[in-house]
Formats: sequence, structure tokens, C-alpha cells
Amino acid sequence: MLGNTLKKIIGTKHEREIKRMRPRVERINALEPEMKKLSDAELRGKTAEFRQQLRNGASLDDLLEPAFATVREAGQRALGLRHYDVQLIGGMVLHDGRIAEMKTGEGKTLVATLACYLNALEGKGVHVVTVNDYLATRDAEWMGRLYGFLGMSTGVVIPGRGDAMKKRAYACDITYGQNNEFGFDYMRDNMKFSIYDYVQRDLHFAIVDEVDSILIDEARTPLIISGPGETASEKYTRINAIIPRLRRDEHYELDEKARTCTLTEDGMELCQQLLHDEGLLEVRQGSAFGNLYDPINLETLHILQQCLRAHALYFRDQHYMVTEEGKVLIIDEFTGRVLPGRRWSDGLHQAVEAKERVSIEDENLTLATISFQNLFRLYNKLSGMTGTADTEAAEFKDIYDLDVVVIPTNKPIARIDDEDLVYKTEPEKFRAVADEIEDAHKRGQPVLVGTTSVEKSDALSRVLTKRDVPHNVLNAKQHEREAYIVAQAGTRGAVTVATNMAGRGTDIVLGGNPEMLARFEVLQNADEALLADEAALEAAVAEATERHVAQCKREQPAIRDLGGLHIVGTERHESRRVDNQLRGRSGRQGDPGRSSFYLSLEDDLMRIFGSERLDKVLSSLGMKEGEAIIHPWVNKSLERAQAKVEGRNFDMSKNLLKFDDVMNDQRKVIFGQRREIMAAEDLSEIVKDMREQVIDDLIDEFMPPKTYADQWNTEGLYAQVIEMLGVDVPVMEWAA
Ligand code: ADP
Ligand code: MG
Repeated sequence: MLGNTLKKIIGTKHEREIKRMRPRVERINALEPEMKKLSDAELRGKTAEFRQQLRNGASLDDLLEPAFATVREAGQRALGLRHYDVQLIGGMVLHDGRIAEMKTGEGKTLVATLACYLNALEGKGVHVVTVNDYLATRDAEWMGRLYGFLGMSTGVVIPGRGDAMKKRAYACDITYGQNNEFGFDYMRDNMKFSIYDYVQRDLHFAIVDEVDSILIDEARTPLIISGPGETASEKYTRINAIIPRLRRDEHYELDEKARTCTLTEDGMELCQQLLHDEGLLEVRQGSAFGNLYDPINLETLHILQQCLRAHALYFRDQHYMVTEEGKVLIIDEFTGRVLPGRRWSDGLHQAVEAKERVSIEDENLTLATISFQNLFRLYNKLSGMTGTADTEAAEFKDIYDLDVVVIPTNKPIARIDDEDLVYKTEPEKFRAVADEIEDAHKRGQPVLVGTTSVEKSDALSRVLTKRDVPHNVLNAKQHEREAYIVAQAGTRGAVTVATNMAGRGTDIVLGGNPEMLARFEVLQNADEALLADEAALEAAVAEATERHVAQCKREQPAIRDLGGLHIVGTERHESRRVDNQLRGRSGRQGDPGRSSFYLSLEDDLMRIFGSERLDKVLSSLGMKEGEAIIHPWVNKSLERAQAKVEGRNFDMSKNLLKFDDVMNDQRKVIFGQRREIMAAEDLSEIVKDMREQVIDDLIDEFMPPKTYADQWNTEGLYAQVIEMLGVDVPVMEWAA
């Protein structure tokens, strides 16, 4: 009751926002007939016209309506897409520097063009930030046609490209790229020795796509540029060898919640003995035996603790994977996505490498680092869009000062969201999931199964294989290939198993996406010659698309009748937001669809945070072996658990920010100073200032203010002046 009332109030806040913007939408709509009459050249001429108006003192806000009308018309002519009214509202929210929550499939890629074009009129650059390179390239190519139509340039920054190409991309009116790359380029620029080598311009305006994933999920790991340091790799190997002798509870205690691991009294003694036998303990002069807690053994103790954590808390294919070349890659627990190039700090990565018996890489020295929070706060204006932001509105507000506006869907949502089904054990749950998938597959209804980790996807895949259910598994490892597969997740009988990030940003069309089908087919069969010839490649794609269009169209109503895309969640994620993301992949643009979550009492979230009474209560509710229970009480306690994790994550972000704030101040000063020095034509003023500062400091040190002359150290000053300034001046005489 109270919840509903609350929802109504919150709902109306967004509704009021939207209502306020409606008159502008009407005025943009009213401009449409006028725009239609313009020739292509006249429409393009609008860009120069707007720029002139800006120079004459108009503000971007003054230009919003005609500019949006222009973009809408260009969208139709260049892409065959006419911005919906709700998309215009989305564009306004982005221009305001806020977050537009628009469900999956509402066409956010197109929404961004409105704010991009308007803000790019200023000529200071607009960045569109995406979650991976594939999407950056796709969107730049796709939307670039619209910008190009209006005479604006589009660039894309791809890791590994040379500075010259990057510089060109950043000089464009609109630049697409993956989030990390914007940050790395920023740091790399500020480590350069000449300002002419900088690739970025000032950070002006950014639109962050999938903003929750970038500004919240990813933001908990800072970006780091590092260089080689030294590591006691042999020590890791030798200490690692003793860990298997330790037993849980007897020698160490585990706190899964806090992700810590502590040696017990017994464990300490055993370790001390083992390390001593191995000759790994330093012994103080005069004692017979080394003490693990003696400061001289600090490094050994530290490595021991990290090795223990590596064994007890970090699991292969869950927290990390080992490549064939013997590299340990971190898997983001949250998204199931591999984070290439990232390493755990503080020796943990080396400990895991020792455990996996691969070569231990040197500990790296951090040369530059920045958190996403501080990176994106460097922009003069920031905005974002995603299907799921509202549950994290407080965090966006607190950390980024970003408001969230929930924008209604273009068509009403027709998806049915089932109540959760809860099983006693995990095997029972997966059996039920497999039954459900098999059944849907036989009926021909497409199913998209979401899992929380690569490992679980693989386990489910084995079950499905055993049952002869053909399926695809996506682990967010190969963005492009996975995009093609996920695009077909809506075809008859398709079964797609995916971790939460896999194939994100790709449209799932019921009955199949003809263009994606065609592109995949052509790319798979293309030879070198075709791949090198872009025009021929596009022609082949167009030809193949033609073939697929009719078939996909025919299938569409059939798939609708089968109930649309069925989403099966195999676990609740750590936050409600991620659950909603999974759900939201079905029911786009008013499509029919269904979502159900299958849970068990053995799920991590339940196990770690759910109350222990759960089992008892459920038994008393009549839970039986192999049978599911559906009860609102379970959902409530799960939501409480999720709220706890969300809160904890929020705290982590705030902590990271607090630490980074100190560095941020230093970074700003140092980066600023370097730039100033490199940009200055004439350094004499700066050098003079510095010289004065240095001399002042020197005198303060040797002749502190408010001291008597006999307390001065004039000889010291004399010597220091010679050393630092290289001049022999009669300091003692002057002092006298
Ligand atoms: P989102 O990022 O919001 O999930 P996308 O930008 O990927 O959505 O767009 C989903 C699909 O909707 C795309 O295939 C796109 O062509 C289509 N689309 C977007 N806007 C429009 C529009 N105004 N009219 C017709 N189709 C549209
Ligand atoms: Mg998108």
C-alpha cells in the first residue's frame, strides 16, 4: 500500500518532468513540414546557419528546437529513421546534462544524435562513450551517416591506433569510443613531453551510453597506466607451495562476505614452522627461530597472506581465467566479462599466478591512475543514457551530480514478468531451468538465459548438450561475434545462454535481424579480397539482406504468437538494476515477451545474505524436493539482500572516490602545471616565479621567521645556495 503510494509520488515526479518538455516537442513537430520542404543542401546549410547564430550570441538552448527538427529530418533522409517524440524528450534530457532512462530497444543510439549535433555546433567536440569497441565503431559508422549528411565529421578512437589517427578522431565534431580509451588517452597525453603530441582536446561534453555499467559497475576499478617494477617471484612460488598444507577453520578462517582470510593461532604456528623449514624466515641475531610477525619478515607475511587468499577466495573461471599462453585474466564477477590488462594489486595477482603455476609477472609501478568518477567529472558537461538507472539514482546524484529522468516507452510494455520460482537446491533449480528451456525450444519460442558467471553458463551448456538442445553461449569475450549471435536470439527455437554483459547494446528483433544475419553470413564466407574491398562487401551484405528480409518478416508474427522472447534468469544478481537489464532485453517496442527468474536457497546471494531461517520458513510453507515455491516473502528478503549489496557497493565507490580525491588534487595541479609549461611561449616568467619560491623556501629553512639571529644556520645556507643555485654569494656577510 505504502509502496504503491510512494511509487505514485516518484512516478509523478518523472511525469511532471516529461510534461514540462511536451510543449517543446510540439514546437519541434510543428517545424517538420518546413524542414521537409528543404533540399538536402539547404538542410545541410542549417549547420552553418546555427553556428552563425551562436556567434551572434544565441545560446544552445535557443537553437534546440530548430536543431532537433533538423536532426530528425536528416535522420529520415540519411538513415530512414524518424525520431519518435519520446526520443526528442530523451535528447533534451541529454542536452540538459542529465541521465535519460530509456528501456532497451527504445533507440538510444538515435537519441544521442540530437544532443550530439546541438552541442557539436559549438565546435569544441562531443564524446559518445560506449561499453566496447565494437559498439563504438558500429555507432560511429551508423550515426556518422546522419552527422555527415549535416556536414559534421565523426571519429572513433580505437585502442592501439597511432597518435595521428587518434588526434584526427578527437578533432572531429563528434567522437565515439570505449570508456577506457578516453581515460587512457587523457593520462597518456598528460605524460607526454610536448603539447603538440596531445591527441585530446579539452574534455567538453560527453554522453555515456549504458551509463550505469560505466559509471557504476566499472567505476569501482580505477584506470591504471603502469610500468615495470620488481617482484620477488621466486618467493611467491615457494610460499605458494606450503598453502595446500593449511586447512580451513583449523588453520585459517574465511569471511566470504568481507572477502578476507585470517590465520588462526594454530595456522600461524604451522606457517612459521613450514617457512622456517624452507629457509624463508629471517632470523634476528641472537634468536634461534624466526618470527613471522617480526617486521623483518613483513614481506614474507604479506606474500603468505596473498597466497592464502588466492587459494581460498579466488577461483579459476569464476574470478579469473587462465589463457593458453599462461596469462591470468581477471573476470569481473559482476558482469562475467574478462578484463584484459587489468591486474589485481598488492601482490594478489602474483599469488594467483603462483597458484596456477604460470610465469609470475613483475609487480607494476603505477605511473598514472584515475578513477572513472574523476575522469568524467573533468568534462564541462556530462550526460548519460541507459535502460536502468533509476534504482541507482542516489548514487548518480551523490557522486556525479547527475539527475535521472525516466522517459516513457514509445509503445506500452507488453512483457509478462513472472513471480520468482525458488528451489531448495541448485541442481533442482538447474533441472527446472533446463526443463523450461527444452519445452520452449520444442514449441519454437526463443529463450535468452542469463547467468551470473562464465562458469555457470558453461555448466548449463553441458546440461543442454546432454539433452540435445542446440544453443549458443556468450561470455562477453568476442563482442562482434556475440553481437551477431545475440541479434538472432529472437528467431524460432533459438536458445542463447549469456552472462549479463554479453551482446549488450545489440537489438533482438523477433523473427531475426536480416541485416545482422546477412552480415554474419557474408563475413563468414568472405575471402581476403572481399574483406579488403569495402564497397563490394557492403554490396554483398545488401544482397544477402534482401534475401533474409522476407523470411524474417514472415517469421515475426509467428514468434509473437509463441509469446515473444522468453527471458530465463538463473539467479538474482547483486543488484536489482542488473536483473532489470536482463528482463529488459525482452518486450522491446511493445513486443510480447516473458521473464522468469529461477532461484535456489544455495544461490550466493541467498547463502551469504539471506537469513538462515529461510530454509526453515520455506519448509514450513510446504517446500518439497524438486518443487518450486512462489512466495512474496522470499522476494522481499531477496530484495533486502540486494539492497544490502547495493549499499555496500555504493560505499565502495564513495571510498574509492575519497582516496582518489587526494590524488585528484595533485593530478590536477601537476597536469595543469605541465601543460602550462609546455604551452607557454616564454618560460622566463614561470622560471622567475619558481626561482623566487625556491629562494624563499631556502631562507625560511635556514633562517626561520621569528627566530633570533644566533639561531640562524647561515653556513648551512651558504653551502646550500652553492649546491642548489650554483652561485657563490657572501651569505654570511649579508646575514650579519
Ligand atoms: P537501445 O540502445 O535503446 O537499446 P538501439 O539504439 O539499439 O536501442 O535501437 C534499437 C532499434 O530500434 C534499432 O534497430 C533501431 O534501428 C530502431 N530504432 C530506433 N529509433 C527508431 C525510430 N525512431 N524509428 C524506427 N526504428 C528505430
Ligand atoms: Mg544501446
